[in-house]
Amino acid sequence: MTTTSPLPLAHVLPVSAAVNAAGHLEVGGCDVRGLAEQFGTPLYVYDVATLKQQLGGYRQAFQAAYPDSDLVYASKAFLNKPFARFVAQQGFGFDAVSGGEIATLRAAGIDLSRVTFHGNNKTPAELALAVEVDLGRVVIDGEEEVALLEGIAAAAGKTQRVLVRVSPGIDGHTHEKTSTGILDSKFGLPIVTGAAERAIRSIVAAPHLEFRGVHMHLGSPIFELEPYAQAIEVMAEFIDEVIRKQIGVEVAEFSPGGGFAVDYRDDQHAPAPAEYAQVIASTLKREADARGFALPHLTLEPGRSMVARAGMAVYTVGQRKVVPGIRTYVSVDGGMADNPRVALYDARYEAVLPDRPLAPTEETVTISGKYCESGDILIKDIALPRLRMGELLAMPAAGAYQVAMESNYNLAQRPAVVLVEDGHARLIRRRQTFEDLGALDVDE
Ligand SMILES: *Cc1c(COP(=O)(O)O)cnc(C)c1O
Repeated sequence: MTTTSPLPLAHVLPVSAAVNAAGHLEVGGCDVRGLAEQFGTPLYVYDVATLKQQLGGYRQAFQAAYPDSDLVYASKAFLNKPFARFVAQQGFGFDAVSGGEIATLRAAGIDLSRVTFHGNNKTPAELALAVEVDLGRVVIDGEEEVALLEGIAAAAGKTQRVLVRVSPGIDGHTHEKTSTGILDSKFGLPIVTGAAERAIRSIVAAPHLEFRGVHMHLGSPIFELEPYAQAIEVMAEFIDEVIRKQIGVEVAEFSPGGGFAVDYRDDQHAPAPAEYAQVIASTLKREADARGFALPHLTLEPGRSMVARAGMAVYTVGQRKVVPGIRTYVSVDGGMADNPRVALYDARYEAVLPDRPLAPTEETVTISGKYCESGDILIKDIALPRLRMGELLAMPAAGAYQVAMESNYNLAQRPAVVLVEDGHARLIRRRQTFEDLGALDVDE
């Protein structure tokens, strides 16, 4: 039984989050306390209703704004085999950025013709795997990659479809460490240096490569709409003036990448899927119309916006350390091993207490992790009820780039991952055991 008590932080929590009759937080109809007891903490809980809302919302928004469009999920935000199958069932293809991701998608039985391979330094072995399994697209991201891939495709007696990742030189106004569309970036072939044009010319001349079109990705998260419009204008000019008029080939496909923002905190308001779809579709249509080129097939590559809100990290509260007049630290049983985003790029989060989600705030504390780094802080200075050792603390908007970036630092055990829906919890990844930690050791 759920009550109608207004839940604080409702817009960053999973859509099914509610307070149950016991006064506890529930997600997907499952009491979070019960999930923690069953699966242990740290625990990552993914809400199926939120996943369906996010995946379906973006799919519908782009279908409405630009019918000749396709969505591929950026696997690096979070991937394992059962999760890949779930995403495929929602009608999505995939972006992969490593041999490991391609192998995982293959093992999950995913249609590899709907997989796009990205990366600024794909190894010869990874490219050979892509060609071998007939991956849908390889996105060229370096001038030397053209000859490398041509050689591999020729040796395999195949023709590989390719896009070119172009750097439009547009700043998406996100964190320096997650900005990728600017000139000074390791990603993409810049227009202004001539590198993008040279790469396309050599692809067109390569007998085992089929040039399909161009790609850009501004970085992530992009909270503004304007950078998409500006970058698409730059890309349209390049498509028209250089690719069509100078090189003399058509652009059948275009991808503006991903990067769509999500709210991590109560005071954030990311644009809606329809707003991103509208700005991308209208800019591309206007440019194509004005310049007289046919509308290309459009591929979107959202990662974060598909999974961030669906995921919630659940920890158990441990020790308190008071430094009088300075700060109070309260530690939890996870930290940078399962969520390195705070240490990497100063990510900010909210927190909820699943055992008493409606309790009023009483003090400001810093939530620290348990690992041996002073930078292992999860939330600096947050107002919360007075935390008690042994109770649960949950961090919403934890579904993207957390489990995906986890490590075994301090030989931490990687947490379990569950999908919740309609009162059922489905374990899609078990928690690592001590035995797992030694699984790669070679004892003489
Ligand atoms: C990471 C990445 C994405 C996804 O970015 P999100 O912010 O997670 O949507 C899309 N395309 C490329 C090329 C990427 O590297």
